[in-house]
Amino acid sequence: MTGKIPQTDPRESYLARRAEIDRAISRVLEGGRYILGEEVAGFEREFASAIGQAHGIGVASGTDALVLGLKALDLPPGSYVATVSHTAVATVAAIELAGLKPLLLDIERDFMTLDPNSLIRCLEKPPGKISAVIPVHLYGQAADLDAILSLAKSHGLKLIEDCAQCHGAALGPRRLGHFGDLSCFSFYPTKNLGAFGDGGAVLTGNPGLAARLKALREYGWRERYVSDFAGMNSRLDELQAAVLRVKLKHLDSDNARRASIALAYDRGLKDSGLTLPVRRPGATHVFHQYVLRTPKRDALHAALDQQGIGTGIHYPVPVHLQGAYRGRIAVDPAGLSESERAAREVLSLPIFPELNEESIARVIAAVRQAL
Ligand SMILES: *Cc1c(COP(=O)(O)O)cnc(C)c1O
Repeated sequence: MTGKIPQTDPRESYLARRAEIDRAISRVLEGGRYILGEEVAGFEREFASAIGQAHGIGVASGTDALVLGLKALDLPPGSYVATVSHTAVATVAAIELAGLKPLLLDIERDFMTLDPNSLIRCLEKPPGKISAVIPVHLYGQAADLDAILSLAKSHGLKLIEDCAQCHGAALGPRRLGHFGDLSCFSFYPTKNLGAFGDGGAVLTGNPGLAARLKALREYGWRERYVSDFAGMNSRLDELQAAVLRVKLKHLDSDNARRASIALAYDRGLKDSGLTLPVRRPGATHVFHQYVLRTPKRDALHAALDQQGIGTGIHYPVPVHLQGAYRGRIAVDPAGLSESERAAREVLSLPIFPELNEESIARVIAAVRQAL
């Protein structure tokens, strides 16, 4: 029983495919084209097709995917975009970066994703015009898209899926990422599809939006050096795209491995008294994180750390209580009690495709011993 077990370890994903990745990187270096060449175009095509969407646009990060996605939709300046408080701060930061106002909603206790009832409450008593909603498919599982889609439709809201944690996940027969007007992905190294640096993409079925996004990521250029509208510089680079093309081929098998690790944890911890992840009926969960809940989270976190088991807290403080946002940001008038409770109780166990059986058994034994 020696050696630390990290919560996540993107280096292992390099070592597991080292020869293939080294070849892809050399190909780019030797090819001499480093920005918006064949690799980005190829990855955009292959990734869009893997998700079942028509158009893909590679950008510099998941945060930028959200910012550019919101800008492409041309929402009324200063209008509200509803999303959850229990998410990576990036989701909320992107709304403000796009010149819009966040409206933070509560989550469903079981699935920890956007609670449609919270959206209904805000639509009944809006702080101002609400123009869009961003469900986050947190931890690798779909938000309640049926309810959210029908609310978006009946209230004329644009729908953007935050898919930063759900590459390859599905709801029914369809993969997440083509339920809304557009969907935003991150390729941060620890995500289910991760680069070795920053990267992101927007997917859409709308050719007009796709063309606008391609212009927005490069200064609003209609043709080189001539801007049609004000844009920015946010491009996926050729090296990261080449790496992602290799990793995309293994996405489904990597996700299957994550699901089998999750199943092993479920079995090993089923009588532990901990609240284990709840699967949404009809959804395929890709376990970006395996998140358990306990009111004694801090003690468990410390005990596992002592035994050399890395765990994560996603996320320790809901966005509406963080210094940058507290007191100045709109929230559900009924409060965000489930979000605040989740922040106190969640703990993410080690999960990444290269985690071996021995390590899984050690994690289970350590959790049981800590209780
Ligand atoms: C990672 C993440 C982002 C941001 O992606 P970056 O590539 O780090 O900018 C946005 N939303 C969620 C839910 C995330 O997990």
